[in-house]
Amino acid sequence: MMRLILMCLTLFACGAVAWGESLIWERFENRTEGTVRGRVGFAADVVGYGGIGLENEYSALFDGQANSGVDHGTAKKIASTDFTVEAFVKLSRGWVYQAIAADWNEQGNNRCWALMVTPGRGLRFDVSPDGAFHPGNRLLTPPRLIQCGKWYHVAAVSQGDTSRIYINGRKVAETTRDAEGIFIDDTAHLKIGNVDAYATSRPKPLFGQLDEVRITCRAVSPSDFLQTEEPMPAATGPTPDSYAMPFAATTKQAATAWQQQARKRLFELVEAQEPRRSTRDVPIDLKLGPAEDRGEYTLYPVTFGGNKPGERYSARLCIPKGDGPFPAMLCLHGHGGSAEEVFDPAECYHGFADRFARGGYVVLAPSFPHRPYASVTLWNLFRCVDILASRPEVDPQRIGVGGLSMGGEWTMWIAACDTRLKAAVVSGWMCTTEGVFSVYNCPCWELPGFVELMDVCEVNLLIAPRPVVFESATLDGCFPVNHTKQGFARIRAGYKLFDAGAAAVHDVFPGVHEWHGKVSFPRVNQALGGHAAKSN
Ligand SMILES: [Zn+2]
Repeated sequence: MMRLILMCLTLFACGAVAWGESLIWERFENRTEGTVRGRVGFAADVVGYGGIGLENEYSALFDGQANSGVDHGTAKKIASTDFTVEAFVKLSRGWVYQAIAADWNEQGNNRCWALMVTPGRGLRFDVSPDGAFHPGNRLLTPPRLIQCGKWYHVAAVSQGDTSRIYINGRKVAETTRDAEGIFIDDTAHLKIGNVDAYATSRPKPLFGQLDEVRITCRAVSPSDFLQTEEPMPAATGPTPDSYAMPFAATTKQAATAWQQQARKRLFELVEAQEPRRSTRDVPIDLKLGPAEDRGEYTLYPVTFGGNKPGERYSARLCIPKGDGPFPAMLCLHGHGGSAEEVFDPAECYHGFADRFARGGYVVLAPSFPHRPYASVTLWNLFRCVDILASRPEVDPQRIGVGGLSMGGEWTMWIAACDTRLKAAVVSGWMCTTEGVFSVYNCPCWELPGFVELMDVCEVNLLIAPRPVVFESATLDGCFPVNHTKQGFARIRAGYKLFDAGAAAVHDVFPGVHEWHGKVSFPRVNQALGGHAAKSN
């Protein structure tokens, strides 16, 4: 009798999806349909908008431990390419992959499908036709769509070869998959709150809550998604609705005051992640290796002490031949790069560090590791400027910085924060916040509190009125060129307040995510007095 009432309620509450249509419906009312692995608890904390029209008193609590989750084994299978995975989710942490539900094991090519939370707190939906990994079959949302500690309804819908992701009923991503079909001979276990092996061959346990996980073997339309009695709030993000310190100055005086406040705030945000040590407490202790004759310059492999006690970094230091003092350039690599790569003409950097060194600049090119927050490298970037400023071969009034990709981001940070730098080349990075979020980018730029502070393009206004070149390729897959143009228009307007409109230049060029140099070399030469050039 009770069941009948529930069925009627279900039909009433959930439109066209009848109870029997779901392959799995984990309601987590103090029990699970699948087998509990590790520790899965129940919380009297349900979707906070009145439930789903059924009795809904509990949700499931997942502890984020490697073995935890609800295991439905190998028998429950989705056999058609039309299917829907829904869940209410409330995360306790971000920054790592976490499985909402998946039938996926990349060991032995047993990939079927997976609905994941991404490290950037977006969602990802994978479907494989044959157990292998197909990059064109993954669907990624922008990051930051999900905040920790809030309930969301999420849905992944596969319809034929189309994948869609919805958050609170709003479609946030859609793609047509390259490879059609779905793998049905897999030996992966269908799991809720975990996955057999995903992204580097490990389980990806969820740390947080799930409720009403429903898997339906057809493409459910949004009007038939699990409904709450009260509607879910509109999903927002990833761009903040408003900023804490937007650039709104209309006079040079106000713009200068904003720069000082913004620089102070940026320092605080980085300090919150890693305190800055003085070079007295933690010495730079530069050590030069054996000199290598490079024709126009001498190259020294060097090491120096980083901001954290005991931490040392390697770098290349190049000294032009002849009589100094010389201008100097700090040359910065991007993701996965190194000091060596910025000298390599075959790399995306087109050997720009070598160009500067041959063009009469003392060059320092460090190798820095990837970190969860790229901007925490700021304290070590200050040390690089310290090294250049202290060299007898360098004119300390003529030091600049340039970098590509994450090196462009580091360039923005150090040029914004260290006024000893007199010129900057931000290559393949300048963009509006909306633009950065419009495609997938590594979330390492999202220092906590930073995205909320100001549009990221406005950080470059801290470089004003010093000369800066922004390089943006028309085919840069990381930073859509229309967004870089919008960003530059705002930067140029800000530079004009400093009577320095001409000091900010945007080099938009046909190319991909790469260093260009056509405008940046002559502009840096003009600012610092060297003779670097795009080519021989
Ligand atoms: Zn990164």
